[in-house]
Amino acid sequence: GGTADRLLPLLTAVPDHPVPGVVFRDITPLLGDPGALREAVGALAGLLPAGTDLVAGVEARGFVLGAAVAVAAGAGFVPVRKSGRLPREVLVESYELEYGSAAVEVHADAVPAGSRVVVLDDVLATGGTASAACRLVERAGGEVAAVVVLAEIGGLGGRDALAGRRVEALLTL
Ligand code: 5GP
Repeated sequence: GGTADRLLPLLTAVPDHPVPGVVFRDITPLLGDPGALREAVGALAGLLPAGTDLVAGVEARGFVLGAAVAVAAGAGFVPVRKSGRLPREVLVESYELEYGSAAVEVHADAVPAGSRVVVLDDVLATGGTASAACRLVERAGGEVAAVVVLAEIGGLGGRDALAGRRVEALLTL
């Protein structure tokens, strides 16, 4: 079988998490399986556009996968964090959640001008998080070469939220 056949069973569906009606996909079984982790990281690295300088990983699971992918691809890593965590001057982008809003931040000097940056996360759902991360990268002076995710949940509008951007998903749920 192929990569999807090996990896999809390790994305465990958790009903009613974090709220009733939502099926959360837990990637920790995949992270804990040495062969699956190696395969996922290698395959994600293969989805990076040629010439990618930096991987911008979204806290927290985008850190785990993003740092490994950056090493595999010979790129650097930039952390995209939730509010209030980075110690120096930051850029902030807010985005809407179903109830309320959230924000992500990067260090203002994290992206050298003209860098080709891949925004990487574990799951693409509505696309709000990835879209905010892309805006951050661009405001910081970078060029978003692609959004790369381990798994895309179809039917939630993620591709629409990222219209005009290259989106690569290793797996589709
Ligand atoms: P979006 O902003 O696209 O609606 O949601 C994506 C963000 O929320 C990502 O940072 C991702 O880590 C997290 N997320 C949303 N749904 C899930 C899910 O089912 N499983 C996991 N592992 N993360 C999710």
